[in-house]
Amino acid sequence: MYQTTAALRSAFLEFFRKNGHQVVDSSSLVPGNDPTLLFTNAGMNQFKDVFLGNDKRSYSRATTAQRCVRAGGKHNDLDNVGYTARHHTFFEMLGNFSFGDYFKHDAIRFAWTFLTEELKLPKEKLCVTVYQNDDEAFNIWNKEIGIPAEDIIRIGDNKGAPYASDNFWQMGDTGPCGPCTEIFYDHGAHIWGGRPGTPEEDGDRFIEIWNIVFMQFNRQADGSMLPLPKPSVDTGMGLERISAIMQKVHSNYEIDVFKILIAKAAEIIGVSDLEEKSLRVIADHIRSCAFLVADGVMPSNEGRGYVLRRIIRRAVRHGYKLGATDTFFYKLVPTLIEVMGDAAKDLKATQSVVENALKAEEEQFARTLERGLGILDGALADLKGDVLDGETAFKLYDTYGFPLDLTADVCRERNITVDEAGFDVAMAAQRSRAQAAGQFAADYNAGIKTDINSHFCGYDALTGEGKVQAIYVN
Ligand code: ATP
Ligand code: MG
Ligand code: MG
Ligand code: MG
Repeated sequence: MYQTTAALRSAFLEFFRKNGHQVVDSSSLVPGNDPTLLFTNAGMNQFKDVFLGNDKRSYSRATTAQRCVRAGGKHNDLDNVGYTARHHTFFEMLGNFSFGDYFKHDAIRFAWTFLTEELKLPKEKLCVTVYQNDDEAFNIWNKEIGIPAEDIIRIGDNKGAPYASDNFWQMGDTGPCGPCTEIFYDHGAHIWGGRPGTPEEDGDRFIEIWNIVFMQFNRQADGSMLPLPKPSVDTGMGLERISAIMQKVHSNYEIDVFKILIAKAAEIIGVSDLEEKSLRVIADHIRSCAFLVADGVMPSNEGRGYVLRRIIRRAVRHGYKLGATDTFFYKLVPTLIEVMGDAAKDLKATQSVVENALKAEEEQFARTLERGLGILDGALADLKGDVLDGETAFKLYDTYGFPLDLTADVCRERNITVDEAGFDVAMAAQRSRAQAAGQFAADYNAGIKTDINSHFCGYDALTGEGKVQAIYVN
């Protein structure tokens, strides 16, 4: 039953449609209503204003299969790709939403019914977490659903830890948020990892599949939390993670969608070992890059465009590592369209734009990639210790178009880190040299009136954080 990822997506939407939910299309990866959010990172983004009470819909229950990218900003999984079985830069989040309609009881009941009756997952493979003081959710799981108390784990908000579970969900630094309850699947004792809340939770044995957020607050810029007009529900289940379970494989990278993409990448590049980690990275990155271009992002040197450029360049470097001698990345787009089924509608409509943009970026980077890697290899061969100096990383960035994270990605494969502070110093020094050189030009403009304004000024190139700043405008 539900052997393919596409069938599973349809089954989820149909289950919630039958339970009174409006099926709503995935929104764009570029959030239409929120300049502080880098990319759509959860199903709830398109409903943010509905949760806040600023937007009304004709329905109070909705369900979606939302395309998401987590490659910058608050939720950034770029560096997990290739290292965990469960993280992608691009993934689909299946969700059901209640806008002031049902709350904890029904949200928990729907999720449990879908998993154990519709998908027939064995109950003993599942365990759940609740927010540390959420006795109401604890009791629903325990008394109504019948989960033994020892399989219900109380979790706090684990600020700062990169993967550690955190049962207080927030979209960003401000906006709707609330306590959650999460459902985990045990992939078996042969895989390293521990239950949520244990020191081994970062492993891939107990994989989080579904997060159910009880949306109750609106976090303000000063950190305070105001109650939302009506308690609501927002849930998110990773399609690829539930697909792995249904297809009886452990890693997301072994499901149909990825098997086909990986085989195609291997064929194009001419690789025989399908287990190569770089193939997984390429298969992951083609999804985020193609869908980002389809949603109107173009590679560039700032903001969203720079995040896209960084991901494309990382993919191209992995192809080079596998021995690619020709452009390969854009050639995966037709296969991607095939494997994504219904979710590829917008990508299909923009296929040639996407292919051309990816091809142009790969060709541009190919001109400096080999020489840059030669310099990096040389520096690493001469390295004493395990930290690459910021000067070299900056030279690679400035002259050879190596984003800092790409250099870090290469170094990490050899257990070396990059001196990021040193990189920043080199960057600042170059900026001040450029400013000094621009002094004459600035003098020509003396006397032009400037005034100060508050303005959204894009994203930090490295962290992807949105910034609002005072800027001078002419
Ligand atoms: P994790 O702890 O595994 O990083 P998360 O707690 O950050 O996941 P949520 O923000 O709760 O994830 O998102 C809801 C669901 O989306 C998760 O339960 C998971 O199934 C899925 N998901 C989250 N991040 C990814 C990702 N990078 N790739 C694939 N699926 C993901
Ligand atoms: Mg995460
Ligand atoms: Mg988590
Ligand atoms: Mg979660």
